[in-house]
Amino acid sequence: MNPKVIMSGIRPTGTGAAHLGHWEGALKSWVKLQDMGECYYSIVDWHALTTEYQDVKNIQGNIRQVLLDLLAVGIDPEKSVVYLQSAVKEIAELFLLLGMMTPLGWLERVPTFKEQQAQLGDRDINTFGFLGYPLLQTVDIVVMKADTVPVGEDQVFHLELAREIVRRFNGLYGDCFPEPQPFLTPIPKLPGVDGRKMSKSYGNAIYLGDTAEAVDKKIRPMITDVRRKRRSDPGVPGDCPVFALHQAYSGAEEIAMVDGECRKAGIGCIDCKKILIRNINGFLEPFRQRRRRYEAMAVADILASGNRRAAERAARTVAEVRALMNI
Ligand code: SF4
Repeated sequence: MNPKVIMSGIRPTGTGAAHLGHWEGALKSWVKLQDMGECYYSIVDWHALTTEYQDVKNIQGNIRQVLLDLLAVGIDPEKSVVYLQSAVKEIAELFLLLGMMTPLGWLERVPTFKEQQAQLGDRDINTFGFLGYPLLQTVDIVVMKADTVPVGEDQVFHLELAREIVRRFNGLYGDCFPEPQPFLTPIPKLPGVDGRKMSKSYGNAIYLGDTAEAVDKKIRPMITDVRRKRRSDPGVPGDCPVFALHQAYSGAEEIAMVDGECRKAGIGCIDCKKILIRNINGFLEPFRQRRRRYEAMAVADILASGNRRAAERAARTVAEVRALMNI
């Protein structure tokens, strides 16, 4: 594949900050894609409103946290356009225009629509905004005329919807948008510190901005293989979330050592965790250093410059759409 224009977004929700699961499942690809084309990376604050419109007090703080994380992982504002969705008003205009020709049934059959309504039962998301969020995602992509979108396999359906909307628009009014293609990123099987999938909403995540002490505090009490009740009981590393994290963040020799020693009770869980803590902290240290550097800088200026570049490109697209729609 030879991508030319790449677009992706991150929501400033929860604590705002990104964790190891975000790094493995998305941000690692974002960094790599910077050398493969023109990248547009958006902090999608309007998307945050689709599920969190009732509680908006943390959005500004979260935007700053996400921005610091993006810069700390190596998104280079010289190479990529990093911008805030709500600063590009053309996105709202295009959302309205494409909304005119998007069949309701296409949005209603998006699988996450019913799933999320069931999962987020504590919130009233029976709203026009929530139904329309896959269209808003489409607009994020097409307003930049992106041809490549890094997605996890679980989001391929959304991208298919975007492609259908593009085909419908191009068919009705004339060629305007490229059909965006997925750049598939593997979904990591990274457990959180409670053994479930690492997720902001489970409160089990190790954040990229966590201090060494915070990592220590989170990993020490982790549950291990239930067979290891006593130090002398052998275990099965495959049944232990600590080992799953070793596989992601320890070297091959250490993984082999832990694997062998755990099985014959040659290593205790506390020592095993100490090795993991050291390795995760070693992995996070460069992020932390870059994050500290950016915390001391006027990052709002970086975002303002990205906002301008994104708005310019979006304005050109919307002018073309207006002409084609005779508006
Ligand atoms: S020794 Fe390590 S891999 Fe084995 S059960 Fe304990 S923490 Fe898990």
